[in-house]
Amino acid sequence: MDVSDFDTLLTPTIWASFITGEPPEKHGVGFWWRASDNDFIDSIVHWVKYNVPLIKDFNPKLLEKLGNIAGLKDRTPNKKDLNDRGLSTIFDQASNPIALFIPSYNEPTEIRRRYREALNESVSAYERELWRVHRERVRAIFENINSEWDLFMVWLDIADQIGHIHDYESFKGRIKFMKTYFSLNNLVGQIKKALDEEVIFMIVSDHGTDLSPEGHHLDEAFFSINQEVAWEPNTILDYSPFVKGLLKELKER
Ligand SMILES: [Zn+2]
Repeated sequence: MDVSDFDTLLTPTIWASFITGEPPEKHGVGFWWRASDNDFIDSIVHWVKYNVPLIKDFNPKLLEKLGNIAGLKDRTPNKKDLNDRGLSTIFDQASNPIALFIPSYNEPTEIRRRYREALNESVSAYERELWRVHRERVRAIFENINSEWDLFMVWLDIADQIGHIHDYESFKGRIKFMKTYFSLNNLVGQIKKALDEEVIFMIVSDHGTDLSPEGHHLDEAFFSINQEVAWEPNTILDYSPFVKGLLKELKER
């Protein structure tokens, strides 16, 4: 799937488009963090953070403290930001939606904070935290998967993150990639087993990653679907109308 329409291949930006069907200009999600509820203040704070080297090199803890004094929130973008822009999501179309850890919708700020703190410590502390969070997310899937729902979505970041911290060209890196992909493959099998046969199960990535040591994002994304449907996504924007259409059909049954 082609995601080259996105100027920045940033995860929350792309998922906001996935769940609303709107391009970034419309939903306005452009960062992992929000410093304030006001779009204008938020854009200024981000500009300062990214453009003034002195502040960029600041200790993040100090920046957080300064932010607290200034009444800045430092939180992940969420559903309310989308609603404030008058946008509806695929979850609004569902009767019993379950949305787990969706960037731009309900990703807990606490997880970003844990990542940031672990990264301040060391890359290996960060990697341990990534897997800890991953296991918590997997647990949440199986705690919810047998309840009543008509739309279920979970977001996992372990494959992307491992791509950023390990070099595929090295032996050690390759083992890390293998461990990650085997683990995800196994998870997909477990989820499939837990689902009714008629459930439409989609796996979607928001972008690809090259094999360089830094793991740069690529504008080609993976998708798969477990059933024969006369539909294929050309871009991320195609999902929201497709999912909303399926939910509507389900209601009319
Ligand atoms: Zn990434």
